[in-house]
Amino acid sequence: MQDAATQLSQAIQYDRLLDTAIKLVEVPSPTRSAADVSDRLDEILRQDGFSVERPAAGWPTSPAVVSRYESGQAGQTLQFNGHLDTVHLSFVPPRVENGMLYGSGCSDMKGGIAACVEAMRALRETGLLTRGGVMLTAHDLHETPWGDGTHLNGLIDAGYVGDAVLLPEYLAAPLPVIGRGLSVLTVKITREGVPVHEVLGGSETPSVIRAGAELVRRFAEVDEELKQLSHPTAGRESMFVGQVASGEIYNQSPIEFILRGTRRWLPGTKMNDAEDQYQQILADVAEQHGVQIEGRFQVARDAYQIDEQGPFVTAFQTAHNAATGKKLPIGAKPFVDDGNEFVHRAGIPAITHGPDAKGAHTLNEEVAVDELVRVALVYALTAVAFCSGQTERGE
Ligand SMILES: [Zn+2]
Repeated sequence: MQDAATQLSQAIQYDRLLDTAIKLVEVPSPTRSAADVSDRLDEILRQDGFSVERPAAGWPTSPAVVSRYESGQAGQTLQFNGHLDTVHLSFVPPRVENGMLYGSGCSDMKGGIAACVEAMRALRETGLLTRGGVMLTAHDLHETPWGDGTHLNGLIDAGYVGDAVLLPEYLAAPLPVIGRGLSVLTVKITREGVPVHEVLGGSETPSVIRAGAELVRRFAEVDEELKQLSHPTAGRESMFVGQVASGEIYNQSPIEFILRGTRRWLPGTKMNDAEDQYQQILADVAEQHGVQIEGRFQVARDAYQIDEQGPFVTAFQTAHNAATGKKLPIGAKPFVDDGNEFVHRAGIPAITHGPDAKGAHTLNEEVAVDELVRVALVYALTAVAFCSGQTERGE
């Protein structure tokens, strides 16, 4: 593996990788508008002589980009998957200064996608992949609340699935093998009638504020119970309230109360059960207080776990060790990403691993080009270890 690391290091070109990253960052691509940057990635790959497919995957506005590099021999396929869309903030053009790349999406996650492309180039140039192949998939509709993850779901449903997948989001350590599921909760409490002065009947109307307060109390009770469902690295299950709003003036009975929060759960808890519990509380409080309550339970992604002794984690650790001289500590993924969906919908192990980058979801994204080079090397080596089965087992 050390030999492969040396050869791949020599094949990975800093300037070529950086040029690819800049070419992706310079095309604005807020979620739902990733068509132009998808065309740009398509063009870069074709110019490099890679095959490109453009499946709509349920989103013809901006067809996905799929590219493969095959060894020509039977073996496993390692998938690299990333999203080409960025959050809806003002566009920041690419800029390079002192080895750092700045600009929209450089951290999240066009830099990582450029590293995937460079890994494919290095694999092809060295000929080190002797079995199986690599498949790159890139898509739109990732960032919430503008996107809903359905483009990736469409890709998976259309069969663009390898035997394992790497996702270059901005998480360089630890090696995540577990992550909580997440739903965004939005509750709207209303009552019949119009807003009315407190002394003109307002104090006798059903109170949306009391109903809201009761809801907050019931959610806190659930959260207290959920403290028992805890994992050493992934954290605990929770029901969290982050926002409430109601009322126009101190002596008027309002007709609406809004609450927003989250529900997070661990593998082993069924998300349908979590939703049923939530809806039951809303129904109870509505009845108690004579109000109407509508609640949304918007699933971002389900909780997941992969086998930390399995061949994919072993291949990744072998690769990381060969690239950097150390294995990564095993841990949890603090956020929810598309990896969760690969585990559930596609039934394959997913590892989120990317550059140690800063500023995701801000105007100040930045990533060291050396970090992108490191990710390209780790990805190429993981392909060699996983597809060809060269893992150091039993370590
Ligand atoms: Zn991202």
